[in-house]
Amino acid sequence: MTELATVLTIDGPSGAGKGTVSRIVARRLGWHYLDSGALYRAVGVAASWANLDISDAAALVRCTFDTQVEFVERAEGELRVLVNGVDATDELRLETTGAVASAIAAIPEVRSALKERQRAFRRAPGLVADGRDMGTVIFADAQYKVFLTASAEERAQRRHKQLSQKGVCVNFDDLLREIMARDARDAQRTVAPLKPADDAVVIDTSGMGIDDVVARVLDLLPAPATP
Ligand code: C5P
Repeated sequence: MTELATVLTIDGPSGAGKGTVSRIVARRLGWHYLDSGALYRAVGVAASWANLDISDAAALVRCTFDTQVEFVERAEGELRVLVNGVDATDELRLETTGAVASAIAAIPEVRSALKERQRAFRRAPGLVADGRDMGTVIFADAQYKVFLTASAEERAQRRHKQLSQKGVCVNFDDLLREIMARDARDAQRTVAPLKPADDAVVIDTSGMGIDDVVARVLDLLPAPATP
């Protein structure tokens, strides 16, 4: 039997810094990267393009099977996401898309339809998998597991700053409310709820800079062999 490639799972609530940290860690290690949230967001975008009713679970499950998602790395290392061949990267990042994705992600058949697609990312030399259930469900046998968290206020502040830098004006209280609603939905759903795996290292990133978080995560892995 061929040995499965090494996986580092990085789970946590939205805004805990998972995406940024995972991408940097994957680049440093020279490993593959899976942004599992982008798959749920892609289904959300495809569903809205098709004007599907968000309460029609059967249609959303069909849409999940029909939606093609490709991750394309541009020369500058920037990752673009194509949904059914169309670059939907910017639409994917919208707060409204996140809310739709979180509603869709609560449907058990949608989750199981995406299971094998996510597992296919496990290739040598290794994979950094970012999401909510990477360490608990999708890669329950991962060699390294991290759960990043931070207070809802801090996560809302980070998101607010990010959006302001992009020139997007949003009300802080609305943002905080949305983040808390999404956390509650992700944590309370019956399938694959957001929670740390029993064997995950929990890192509270409140007050920490990205470089410190990256260093803490890399510290968990064995140092690369020196030639
Ligand atoms: O991580 P991101 O914010 O892009 O994820 C969007 C939504 O997709 C989350 O709020 C969550 O409901 C869902 N998701 C999930 N399981 C994952 C990744 C994301 O349920 N592994």
